[in-house]
Amino acid sequence: MGYEFFALGSPTELMEAYEFYTLARMILAARRVIPLSKPMHLFGAGHPLTIPLAVALGCDTFDSASYILYAKDGRYILPNGTINIDELEYLPCMCPICSSISAKELRDMSRDERIAKIALHNLYTIKREVDNVKQAIVEGRLWEYVIQRSLSHPKLVEANHALVESAEYLEQCTPIFKDRALFLSLPIDQYRPELTRFRRLICNNIRSDKSTLVLLIEPEEHPFYTSSKCNMIKDAINAIHDDDHIINKIDDVQIAYYSPFLGVVPEEVSDVYPASHVVSVRSVKYYEFPTMLDSIIHFIRSNSFKRVLIEVDERSIQFMRSLKDELQEVEIGYCLSIEDIIAFIRLKPP
Ligand SMILES: [Zn+2]
Repeated sequence: MGYEFFALGSPTELMEAYEFYTLARMILAARRVIPLSKPMHLFGAGHPLTIPLAVALGCDTFDSASYILYAKDGRYILPNGTINIDELEYLPCMCPICSSISAKELRDMSRDERIAKIALHNLYTIKREVDNVKQAIVEGRLWEYVIQRSLSHPKLVEANHALVESAEYLEQCTPIFKDRALFLSLPIDQYRPELTRFRRLICNNIRSDKSTLVLLIEPEEHPFYTSSKCNMIKDAINAIHDDDHIINKIDDVQIAYYSPFLGVVPEEVSDVYPASHVVSVRSVKYYEFPTMLDSIIHFIRSNSFKRVLIEVDERSIQFMRSLKDELQEVEIGYCLSIEDIIAFIRLKPP
């Protein structure tokens, strides 16, 4: 295509009906055929709610008459929706318009004057959203911003599925490294492009020639190879190795941890971005993280472990038990403590 600029139009009706998921799929369908290097305009995206998701999916510029059309109807744009000025006791905004008049003064103005004031406020609100998105891009936290903003409306939460479905496309637009830690709070964050890329890297590129895999619960300390429990296992293995009575490939142990967001993380790559550059919520429901189970299964199948010892707690045990059904070719042991794992390694070589 010889064009320098593309435009998608016009999804105004979809946006007015809050059909954000359909809008997202439209944007993705267009982006699939438009080169990433070419900017794409979205016609009619005149509400702050739609801008973060539209940018994340690949829209670069916007236009809309909504600021003035809404103003004519007395609709005051808020970051999370619109409200009729008759319902406003206060003006919850610090733009030059709203910080100079009260809600009552706005209502009491002549129609023309009121429309002009609301239109200007509406434009300031849209501009603020665009600037917030730009700043989020600069800080490398657009994903976090999109998810945070989506919580304003159930239909935007629904539209987040488009992010999950377009993981491969989002990866192409996401830097390999970022300066700041990734904040991981909700199950949908497991689909962040940085994390899908990391899980694929582990699955396709990391090979171990060890016969035992020790899989630990993610420790608080990062990187993992410096953590006290990783070192407890290594010290125990070394101590056993020095014991002449036990010569049984005891040093033949691959140590890794499992993370709901990152999947399986072998010790050797536990400081590779983003493994030790995440801040994640600690109390999760494991069944909401199918990518973790997939990652563990793929890692085990891609290597030749004969035995897998998994540290579990009351939250993970049920979920991790499903590995036994998936991996019948491997001996799997569940341990409630590091001491149990060490005892297992000592007593029962594969
Ligand atoms: Zn304002």
